[in-house]
Amino acid sequence: MLEGCVDWPEDSARRYRNAGCWGTLSIFEAVSAAARSNPGKAAVVDATGRRSYRDLLSNAERLAARLHGLGLRPLDRVVFQLANSIKFIEAFLALMRIGAIPVMALPAHRRTEIEHFVRSSGAVALMTPEEAKGFDYRVMAREVASRCPVLRHLIIDGEPFRDQIELSPRRDRPEEPAQLSLEECPLPRPEEVALMLLSGGTTGLSKLIPRTHADYLCGVEQSGKAAGLDADTVFLGVLPAGHNYTLGAPGILGTLVAGGVVILSPATTADVVFPLIERERVTVVSSAGPLVSRWLGSDLFDRHDLSSLKVFMSGGARLAPELRRRVEQQFQCTYQESFGTAEGLLCMSRLADAEALRMNSSGRPVSEYDEIRIVNPSDQDLPDGSAGELLVRGPYTIQGYYNAPEINAKAFTTDGFYRTGDVVSRRDGYLYVEGRIKDLINRGGEMISCAEVENHLLTHPAIETACVVAIPDDVFIEKACAVVVLRRGYTLTLAEMSAFLKDKEIARFKMPERLELVKEMPISPAGKILRRNLREALADHLASERLHDRQ
Ligand code: AMP
Repeated sequence: MLEGCVDWPEDSARRYRNAGCWGTLSIFEAVSAAARSNPGKAAVVDATGRRSYRDLLSNAERLAARLHGLGLRPLDRVVFQLANSIKFIEAFLALMRIGAIPVMALPAHRRTEIEHFVRSSGAVALMTPEEAKGFDYRVMAREVASRCPVLRHLIIDGEPFRDQIELSPRRDRPEEPAQLSLEECPLPRPEEVALMLLSGGTTGLSKLIPRTHADYLCGVEQSGKAAGLDADTVFLGVLPAGHNYTLGAPGILGTLVAGGVVILSPATTADVVFPLIERERVTVVSSAGPLVSRWLGSDLFDRHDLSSLKVFMSGGARLAPELRRRVEQQFQCTYQESFGTAEGLLCMSRLADAEALRMNSSGRPVSEYDEIRIVNPSDQDLPDGSAGELLVRGPYTIQGYYNAPEINAKAFTTDGFYRTGDVVSRRDGYLYVEGRIKDLINRGGEMISCAEVENHLLTHPAIETACVVAIPDDVFIEKACAVVVLRRGYTLTLAEMSAFLKDKEIARFKMPERLELVKEMPISPAGKILRRNLREALADHLASERLHDRQ
């Protein structure tokens, strides 16, 4: 295994191999195997066109040969920042063919983050778009390279600067002198590192999560089974493809190894997504909280035939039961909750589950080899029904972040359980996420779960999105503030909100004591509400309010 990674203990590895959790194929081989049964079938569709399985793989191999010719070698790290497109998938598969390791950045990342990924991974190459939304990635790439001497290759999807390389050279330009053959480049071993994902990007700088071919495929295949993916699946990904949820939970790779079709949407708004569902006869869509509320509020339902949709998946954050119910009513399909981590563990509700489980639970682990513990702050196991921190160990959950022994000592138990930081309870094998350890507001010793109050708020007809955050208080140290985006045409006062929550018969101390109406929430590249940004903005706002009061 790549130096700096923490391997599974040999006895666990043997168990996972013997049980078939870990197979004998690399990611490239797994996609090739699916392609063989129907090479002419469409594999990927994006805004520019469509690619058959045959063309997708031959383009990926050609690109792999070219990248190998340029000097990319197995286990070299490549910060990978392409936008959702066929090119993304071809370039990703090219790296999988060589055994080079993409570090999955998102198009929204800027110089500070990209530089951090380059330094912390020791990347020799950076792959970025030419420009998008008025931002020139080539300039950023050049700046990063000037500060990080290990970065040798800047590979641009589009027109490169002179010191940069074009991802796919145009036919009218001579190819760089390179040996365009993969003879010298064996396929990677399945238990070698395939890719590096980024740890939850909502706080601090991300840590790198090394995933092997075998472990990643295990999560991809098991979550694919839970979502019922097969060769008839038409999967629509709307969130960034570099995020674990869209890439492999089961996402793009789950669909490709099942022989289905991947549709990549150029935008996340209902006016783009709904026509795409209709045109491509999409069967599975994977979305996330803030998007779901927006789509549900759209007035386009009558104008599009969405009847092909069978599964509506939401992940990244818990979706309130009220919204899940509306998804099933308005989209006329099965709602599937997906609670996943880039570190590994994936939990999903199952399509045949009873309504109560689909509407309320966070699902159950996708592999029977996932080991779950729910513990109190002293690491003692709690009985079913009690909420505590979720710890997990299993065939596709990492044993450590890359090159991070000090962080690993805190984030993992000595016997290899990953501490998720999520507060969950378990009933009948299903998990119920109650929040993050850090998403609790401590109101003078009374703990308020932000997620719990948000779930109540989201049932209010005026509220499109709600986020409950802590605000500083002289007496209680912290108090709750509800930050709310209203549906068009509605109003809401603090008194009305409090009356509504009172009717929910929840403890009085949980009631937000302040209401802030905003036009939109700050959203992370992965589609999650950036709580920390909200908290900081509110703290600043309150401080200036106080100053004003004193004057
Ligand atoms: P990431 O590794 O960036 O995908 O973030 C993983 C974290 O997102 C988890 O540890 C949870 O805190 C949160 N998360 C993801 N999906 C859900 C969900 N369905 N319900 C609640 N929290 C979720």
